[in-house]
Amino acid sequence: MKIICVGRNYAEHAKELNNAVPTKPVIFIKPATALLKDGKPFYLPDFSTDMHYETELVLRVGKNGKSIQEKFAMSYIDAMTVGIDFTARDLQDECKKKGLPWEIAKAFDNSAVVGSFVASDKLKNGLVEFTMKLNGEQKQHGKSTDMIFNIEQIIAYVSKFFTLQTGDLIFTGTPYGVGAVKQGDRIEAFLETENLLTFDIK
Ligand code: MG
Repeated sequence: MKIICVGRNYAEHAKELNNAVPTKPVIFIKPATALLKDGKPFYLPDFSTDMHYETELVLRVGKNGKSIQEKFAMSYIDAMTVGIDFTARDLQDECKKKGLPWEIAKAFDNSAVVGSFVASDKLKNGLVEFTMKLNGEQKQHGKSTDMIFNIEQIIAYVSKFFTLQTGDLIFTGTPYGVGAVKQGDRIEAFLETENLLTFDIK
């Protein structure tokens, strides 16, 4: 399986990192080895001193598809959850400055944390909200309706380049409020009011 991620998909977040608001989706991929699940702790790697959380709505692909049309896109999603797209911001800034790919800053082991999956029926009505608390304090709150590129557009765009396969995950971008974590922190993430993910930083 692969993990497809959308960057800069919320205008307020693009601004907080001094990025232009994109006119096409910004896409990158994490390998299967990036996946961290079941509430396991995240161990801070020694190659970064500025590890950022990015809380995102995560979709699970339920069947294979290529060049999917927007009107059929939702039928390819069978579940959703909230996840953290961990980003070594110091490495990413270096890569961006040099115009290099981001992989070492974004796709390292355990960089894609996911919560428990729930049915994705609510997505069809358009609005899903998610929240992240760091040590009990709310840090990020996102609404699917604030995405620059909506879920149908993301699936249509991504599947032009990459065949979607059952079990693939799509991280749909982070809203405003990203920040650094440190040893001893606890992250809790909610879809609506349901706590789907709790884990510790070690
Ligand atoms: Mg992200």
